Amino acid sequence: MSHNKRIAVYPGSFDPITNGHMDILIRASRLFDHVIILIAENGAKNSRFDVVARQKMIAEAISDAKLENVEVDVTSGLTVEYAKRIGANHLIRGLRAVTDFEYEFKLAAANSFIDPDIDMIFFMAKNDFDFISSSSILEMADGGVDVSSLVPKSVIKYLKK
Ligand code: ADP
Repeated sequence: MSHNKRIAVYPGSFDPITNGHMDILIRASRLFDHVIILIAENGAKNSRFDVVARQKMIAEAISDAKLENVEVDVTSGLTVEYAKRIGANHLIRGLRAVTDFEYEFKLAAANSFIDPDIDMIFFMAKNDFDFISSSSILEMADGGVDVSSLVPKSVIKYLKK
């Protein structure tokens, strides 16, 4: 029997974090001893919030949800390399409807090419959250729609800025 802690990394842009992300995070936190939600800095993507703001929103959401085995971190490198470095064997991702499948399928293949020992685990989006993406949140909030039931409380004040 192994006494090694089971650690997972949940990487993404989280620009900003939504209740869809939170649902995946909560479910992953029940399956693993420790989960790191990892902001992957992606130079190619234009982001609305800087990494520091995204990290603050996530840290507050984790604390409000009382997820004691979850931490937030940032990387500018490959998530697989990050996972290896901290001794995590699994990457968590979420799947909405059919739209995410092709992208995630390719990502899983690329990650497996980099390191076949690190496996990806997919959680199906809940129906209620299926339509939520960071970009749809930003569009709705910019258009004056009340999105307070779709994002953690910590995100609302940043959307108002
Ligand atoms: P990325 O830019 O890496 O796709 P995102 O922050 O957009 O980062 O998403 C991170 C992960 O969370 C992805 O696997 C994405 O499919 C998943 N995800 C995003 N929104 C939802 C949602 N509403 N329900 C379930 N999973 C989601």
